[in-house]
Parts: sequence; C-alpha cells; structure tokens
Amino acid sequence: MRIAVVGTGYVGLVAGTCFAESGNHVTCIDIDEEKVRRLHDGILPIYEPGLEELLRRNVRDSRLTFTTDYAEGIADAEVVFIAVGTPPGEDGSADLKYVLAAARSIGENLTGYAVIVDKSTVPVGTARKVKEAVASTTKHEFDVVSNPEFLKEGAAIDDFLKPDRVVIGSESPRAAKVMNELYAPFVRTGNPIIETDIESAELTKYAANAMLATRISFMNEIANICERVGANVNHVRKGIGTDARIGSRFLFPGCGYGGSCFPKDVQAIVRTSEEYGYEFRILKAVEEVNERQKHTLFEKAEKHFGDLKGKHFALWGLAFKPNTDDMREAPAIVLCNQLLEAGATVTAFDPEAMEEAKHVYIGDKINYADKPMDALDGADALFVVTEWNEFRRPDFESIYESLEHPVIIDGRNIFSRDVVEEMGFTYYAVGC
Ligand code: NAD
Repeated sequence: MRIAVVGTGYVGLVAGTCFAESGNHVTCIDIDEEKVRRLHDGILPIYEPGLEELLRRNVRDSRLTFTTDYAEGIADAEVVFIAVGTPPGEDGSADLKYVLAAARSIGENLTGYAVIVDKSTVPVGTARKVKEAVASTTKHEFDVVSNPEFLKEGAAIDDFLKPDRVVIGSESPRAAKVMNELYAPFVRTGNPIIETDIESAELTKYAANAMLATRISFMNEIANICERVGANVNHVRKGIGTDARIGSRFLFPGCGYGGSCFPKDVQAIVRTSEEYGYEFRILKAVEEVNERQKHTLFEKAEKHFGDLKGKHFALWGLAFKPNTDDMREAPAIVLCNQLLEAGATVTAFDPEAMEEAKHVYIGDKINYADKPMDALDGADALFVVTEWNEFRRPDFESIYESLEHPVIIDGRNIFSRDVVEEMGFTYYAVGC
C-alpha cells in the first residue's frame, strides 16, 4: 500500500518505518525542515533502540522517504496517518492545533479517496473535527478512522511490530477493510484487531494510560506508607502482584512518572470529563500524588543533610525512563530545579538524554559527565533517577571512594539495601 505519515516524532517515525518494513511504500511528512534534512542524511531525531537500523534498511530499499512537501507525500496515498503532537493546552486539555493543521493540509493535497487515520492521542470528538477540517479543503471522498497507538518508548519497535492489540474505530466498512489489510502482517500470531465505534477507540487510549498512571501513583502511595510503618514495598508488591486479578506489571514505586503521555493524557481526560459535567476524582488524585512524588528525592536529601546550600550532587539518569532520550516531564527536571533553588550544584550523567536535557530549562544550569563514575567526583551524594541497566551493577568501592559522603538516594530501588549498607553507605530508597 502507499502510505503517508504526518509527523516524524516517536510515533510517526516508528509507525512509518514499521509499515515500510512490512512491505508498504511510506512517505513521512514533517514541517520541521531541519528534522527532514537530517533524516535524509540518516540522522535520527530521537533515540529508540533498533530504529536506526530498520529505518536505514527501508530507506535503502526505497520503501521509506521523508519530505516537508505535503503534495509529494499525500499524492496517491491510500492511507494517511496523523501522528503529530497533542501537547497539553493551558487548562490541561489536549491542544489540537497541530492535528487540525495537519488535517487541513492533508485535505488540500488529496488526489483521490484515502483513509485518514488519527494515530495521535486525541480526545473524544476529534475524528469529527478532523473530518470537518479535511472536508473544508477537499472535494475528494475520504474516511476518518481512529487508531490510537500503544507503543512504549524504549521498546517501540517491538510494540509496533508485535502489538498486544490493534484498536480501530471506524464508521466506514470500506475504511475498516483497508485498516485490517494494513495491520494483517502485525497480528499473525493471533493478537486481536479490535473494531469499535470511533468514540470508544479515542477513549480507549486515555483509559489505558490513565489505568497505568493510576497503578504507579497507587504504588507510590503504598511505598510512602511503607516508609512510615516500617514495611517493605518490595514484599508488598510481590504479595499483591502474584494475585492474578492484579498482576505484577506496573507495580514499581519510584520518584514519579513522566514522559509525554501519562501526565498529559491524565490531565486531558480529567478536562474532557469536566467538559461533559463529570468530575473524574480518582485521576485528579493520581495527578496530585505524582506531582508530590517527584519531590521525594529532594526531601530525602534535605532530611539527611539539612541545609543543601553549597552541596554538590551526582545524578544518574535524566530521561523520564530508560532506553529513551525523552526528557518531557522527567522527574529529574523537578529534582534538579529543587537542588539548584536550594543552592546546591549538580553533575549528571545519562547514556542518551544529555543532549536533550540541554534544551530544557535546567539544561545549562547543571554540569554533565562523560561517564557515570565521572559524575561522582567530590559529590556529597549520588541520586539515581532513571533505572538504566548500566547503573544496576556499579563498582560500589569506586563510588565509595569518589563521594564526599557515602550517601545514595535511589529513586528507582535498583540497589540492594543489604549490599550497599554493608559497604558503609547510607541508603535511601522509595518504600523499602
Ligand atoms: P513528537 O512531538 O515527538 O513529534 C511530533 C512531530 O509532528 C514533530 O516532528 C513535529 O514537527 C511534527 N508536526 C507538528 N505539526 C505538524 C504538521 N502540521 N505537519 C507535519 N508535521 C507536524 O510527538 P510523539 O511523541 O511522536 O507523539 C505524537 C502523538 O502520539 C501524540 O498525540 C502522543 O500523545 C501520541 N503517542 C505518543 C507516544 C509516545 O510514547 N511518544 C505513544 C503513543 C501515542
């Protein structure tokens, strides 16, 4: 099939590359000229394991191209995906300006019937707005379909090529048939394509992220209680996770969730509910708990050292989670801000996110190390903020020697308390 993908971010680039990998001819369109120019040179705008190799292969085999020119990208496309950003507006609701701008540009350049697919995470009712925007700029026939994306950054290729399920919301049998054909190679092992009405598909994506965010905030509250009553959240986690009704995934406490999806999607569904006269109380609490949890590492440092003015800290991990360079809403940003405001200094190391970190507010206010151990020189304590695998088995003796004070504040519970305490460290974790 001939496919166009509008937006070459985490979702658009992965989707475009994976559709090309399954034999389609894909043109990715982005308005960011620099991004497209670099993609032509084989330089990826994001870090995502496995993507570079797959992308280069499909570019080499002429199944994948990039352009800023809608006319070139949309011409003859049978399916056009909208995968542009939907950042939170001032009131937390999803800002649809990129989606609707893309829809108008698609309409202006249609050359015949096409299925236009909302892949961006968009509130209920957006497909109708997209339909109006496209209709205002074209006379050609088209259908709009909702096909939310469930990939996880850091495992995006695998998630896309082998999805647990594909959700297709459509009111057109013609469009649904095209979508089923397109996704057939991805569900050969029997994972379902779930066909729904458009509204249910749109809401499914928010419900999934809201449920996952709720599990994290719930476990963070359990961890906070564990600290107060002298219980160990790891034991509690195993104790509940082995219950088949609960399951063991997404039960890890930490220093708060971040990223481009959970924070904004929780906010957006709260706002959508308000628009429909409903107060989504659980999700308001989920959001509040998460904001508070991002302060927990700073509070532990303050409790240990008292005044942090003049102190220097090493920080391992900046990205909001491992295997990505994404810094959006990362807990590290909140921690660095708090440390800087308290008059402390920070040297950070992250395997992939240091370039990205330089573009966020704290970017030029902290120092960066080339290697994890280089961040430790003369630091008063080590914070672990992201659970990259390479941090899990460090040389504790070298850490002990490099730090001014043998203090580790572990926001992801990656070390064993017994091991580090036996070596003489003071160890703070979350709920254990
Ligand atoms: P992103 O910010 O990484 O990328 C968006 C891209 O769209 C940018 O390259 C931007 O230049 C481009 N763009 C903006 N307006 C455009 C226009 N009019 N025409 C062409 N290109 C345009 O975004 P992302 O993280 O890939 O997310 C995209 C959508 O997918 C969002 O709605 C997000 O919620 C959703 N989503 C994201 C993830 C994730 O893990 N990142 C997972 C599932 C769903």
